[in-house]
Amino acid sequence: MPARIIDGKGIAAALNAETSRRVTAAGIRPRLVMLLAGEDPASAIYVRSKDRAARAAGLAAETIRLPGSVAEAELLGEIARLNVDPEVDGILVQLPLPEGIRARAFIEAIDPAKDVDGLTPVNAGRLLAGAPFLVPCTPLGVIKLLAAAEVATAGARALVIGRSALVGRPLAALLTGADATVTLAHSRTRDLAAECRRAEILVAAMGRAELVRGDWIGSGAVVIDVGINRLADGRLVGDVATAEAMEVAAAITPVPGGVGPMTIACLLENTLTAALARRAQPCAG
Ligand code: NAD
Repeated sequence: MPARIIDGKGIAAALNAETSRRVTAAGIRPRLVMLLAGEDPASAIYVRSKDRAARAAGLAAETIRLPGSVAEAELLGEIARLNVDPEVDGILVQLPLPEGIRARAFIEAIDPAKDVDGLTPVNAGRLLAGAPFLVPCTPLGVIKLLAAAEVATAGARALVIGRSALVGRPLAALLTGADATVTLAHSRTRDLAAECRRAEILVAAMGRAELVRGDWIGSGAVVIDVGINRLADGRLVGDVATAEAMEVAAAITPVPGGVGPMTIACLLENTLTAALARRAQPCAG
């Protein structure tokens, strides 16, 4: 039987509707500000999608566009200004930043109370300590997909491929918190295929087009494909060879329409979380 498709688009729409309902119930208009530096076309598309989704859910959204040649001091100045602006609930620096700009310095400059991407050391530390507050959107989306698809994580052997601060590392922490037995694989992992075959939950997040083949996947595994890769012929594919994987897996996310919409939906939820927390503790900034 071919794998069940986990409908990220539908699950994200339901989460957005819930966020919108909570925004209305709270009687607030959480404000998300995105900083977009440079001309990266994919980043421009992502920011536009986030802006549109935020407005549709009843949030206020604003994008500050800066030239690729922006001075580090100017970018830091923008973040400092947004940190103290009482009208701003969430600050997102769209990655990647233009060449020559050290992303870490900017991420670390964001007030953790407004860090809706969950990448500041404070929020990354809270997650590792088992007390998450604002959690990176893509890994949070993966956990919500697993929950919506009623995949049992407790005791399951989970493999995460990719150890970035944005996806792999926080996802390994979240899966650990969800009681899975987690293996974190990366570019130096020996015999990745063997690691994959052992996994009951397999999350591919390495940005290598269709690297995970059907015969790497254990029978009945649940496969979450985070990768987004544009092929030379223009097609968009994930990190998993989907058609092959469908022959063996129990369930799989499509690309596009899987993890991508969840990332945006979790950003909106994080903005609401930040807005409610700031209103509960106005001194938090
Ligand atoms: P990254 O380049 O920062 O990290 C890639 C990771 O994969 C590294 O830890 C590296 O060790 C590992 N890796 C690379 N080649 C490997 C190999 N051959 N075998 C095993 N591991 C390997 O990337 P990222 O920011 O974590 O993103 C990963 C992928 O997820 C990309 O395709 C990106 O476009 C996609 N992504 C999607 C969303 C979404 O919303 N769907 C969000 C963020 C990232």
